[in-house]
Amino acid sequence: MIDLRSDTVTKPSPEMRKAMYEAEVGDDVFKEDPTVNKLEEYIAELLSKDAALFVPSGVMGNQISLNVLTEPGDEVICDREAHIFNYESSSVARLSGIQIYPLDGELGVLTPAQVEPYIRTTAYHMPRTKVIEVENTHNRRGGTIWPIDAIVYLKNLAKKHGLYYHLDGARIWNAFVETGISPKEYASHFDSVSCCFSKGLGAPIGSAIAGSKEFIKEAYRVRKAWGGGMRQVGILAAAALYAVQHNIKRLKEDHRRAEVLAKRINENPSLEINMEAVHTNILLFKPLRMKPEEGLKLCKEKGLILTPGTINSLRAVTHLDVNDDDISKAANIIDEVFK
Ligand SMILES: *Cc1c(COP(=O)(O)O)cnc(C)c1O
Repeated sequence: MIDLRSDTVTKPSPEMRKAMYEAEVGDDVFKEDPTVNKLEEYIAELLSKDAALFVPSGVMGNQISLNVLTEPGDEVICDREAHIFNYESSSVARLSGIQIYPLDGELGVLTPAQVEPYIRTTAYHMPRTKVIEVENTHNRRGGTIWPIDAIVYLKNLAKKHGLYYHLDGARIWNAFVETGISPKEYASHFDSVSCCFSKGLGAPIGSAIAGSKEFIKEAYRVRKAWGGGMRQVGILAAAALYAVQHNIKRLKEDHRRAEVLAKRINENPSLEINMEAVHTNILLFKPLRMKPEEGLKLCKEKGLILTPGTINSLRAVTHLDVNDDDISKAANIIDEVFK
């Protein structure tokens, strides 16, 4: 079975497992796990922030960040396809008592002209706008990259209005290998950043958030309050450390394979794909002569698993555990199914 459902399906390699096996551990709730401490220092340095915190998942990383940056009743502005709005089980409401104001970004990118009218006045009957959020690369827009200029323009707007600026950088590594803009430079524009080790980097679990000393101090408190205080978790931090130290550069391979597959899809008259949106490892495409669910089912019968994408589309994601041969087989299956 060729599994292109997500880059989260990768399994830890023997070398990664060896790093996990050999990890020195301690009780991280006492901050005594040397491997976790090493990972957090490494990430703080990599993103050029005062400090970082290891968290079990990307969702927890984003939600802790938003919780620290807001008070109940506050509002966060982001693209309407943002992960925090669509894929985090309404945690902004459940956990922080805040709400999202979604705007429709072009390939997920919001402009100051678009956002500024929706920053609330201080009228007592209105919510308070507190955070602007950016997702880079953008998952539900098909792995699209925010241009660095767009990031800077929106930062200037956030600063002008005294708002916090948060980056959901679950796949910031993919943006980096494609643009050459370092994670450090991307992160420098934001107050807080989240990033994932369990996507294309291939770790079994784990994310990190980074920001100022005060931000991470509060984040540490919130992580514990939400049951995310972990003990001898160096065994997992070792996998994360291995992932960031070994698996970033090779993401370029995933992007190359996604492009190969995208071209094949684009040549098929029964399918529609926006080649302009093919930036990294996520493809969204529309079957024109078949219902997406039907296509999913037929692909699966022939040995290819995909997921539904945004409305009426299918989604394919390349990753560490698929090779050129898998991609060419996947393309053939797609051509057979969508004739
Ligand atoms: C995967 C992902 C997350 C984190 O989700 P988890 O389910 O916690 O791994 C956050 N943001 C984006 C954009 C993602 O793709």
